[in-house]
Amino acid sequence: MRFGDQRESTNYTDDTGRGGMGFGGGGFGGGGLGCLLPLVASRFGIGGVVVLVIGYFLLSSIGGLGGGGGVPGVQSSAPAGHSTLDPNTKRFALQVLGDTEEAWTALLAKQGVRYTPTNLHFYSGGDQSGCGFAQSAMGPFYCPKDSNIYLDTDFFNELSQKYQAPGDFAEAYVIAHEVGHHVQDLTGTLGKAEQLQARESEAEGNATQVKIELQADCYAGVWAANAKNPQGQSAMEPGDFEEGMRAAEAIGDDTLQKQTQGRVVPDSFTHGTSAQRMNALQTGFKSGNPEACASL
Ligand SMILES: [Zn+2]
Repeated sequence: MRFGDQRESTNYTDDTGRGGMGFGGGGFGGGGLGCLLPLVASRFGIGGVVVLVIGYFLLSSIGGLGGGGGVPGVQSSAPAGHSTLDPNTKRFALQVLGDTEEAWTALLAKQGVRYTPTNLHFYSGGDQSGCGFAQSAMGPFYCPKDSNIYLDTDFFNELSQKYQAPGDFAEAYVIAHEVGHHVQDLTGTLGKAEQLQARESEAEGNATQVKIELQADCYAGVWAANAKNPQGQSAMEPGDFEEGMRAAEAIGDDTLQKQTQGRVVPDSFTHGTSAQRMNALQTGFKSGNPEACASL
């Protein structure tokens, strides 16, 4: 992406200096990946097998995360230290965030909705969130309770190495997807989804969540189509969109399930297949219009 001297958003918190508190100061180790996910996702039967990649917390599952007592000894009382955030990563993420603010302010104004910005909360290892304890193994997520996006930028390394989806637009897609959940929050879609899920079966609830996730992917594409540098030119460079498509493909439920459990269980999908995610991103990007993103 080419943002030039695009403004950096000031809507962020940098908690990376507190890094990994609560687990004896030693971070989370290799066993972190599965230990918390069941708490997040148990209502939908994911069983901790599938990583909650660029997800959001269902309001109904937040209580379990925060109050269930499943994460012993977690406190956010560690003394503040120096930020461990890479300056280039920070600058890029905040330029992306700043650009989403401008794009969504204009896009939502057309629908009569006033855009209020989300806050990008950088952390390292683990941190308190309005939705309970955030842990980097969960992947980035949006918390509707405090309207914050929680991001451990180590996820970008994971995306590049483990998921084989490198590139700056792959990273921008992750942030824009979470901003998409914030947009859903502002337009009432997240609330509607929660109401639906309260009376749905587990499989139906998962299907509703898939719709939410695919719409957030589509919104990420809509933003990309509208992303501009200060000169008013598209911030997208050749190859950027393909980077996003590789990321969308890598984190599809079917692909992840094949990798982690060797088989695919469609009823347990929460984010959509690789093909669906790629299609959603593409639909948003091609149209540049949120109305092209199917709603609930
Ligand atoms: Zn999501």
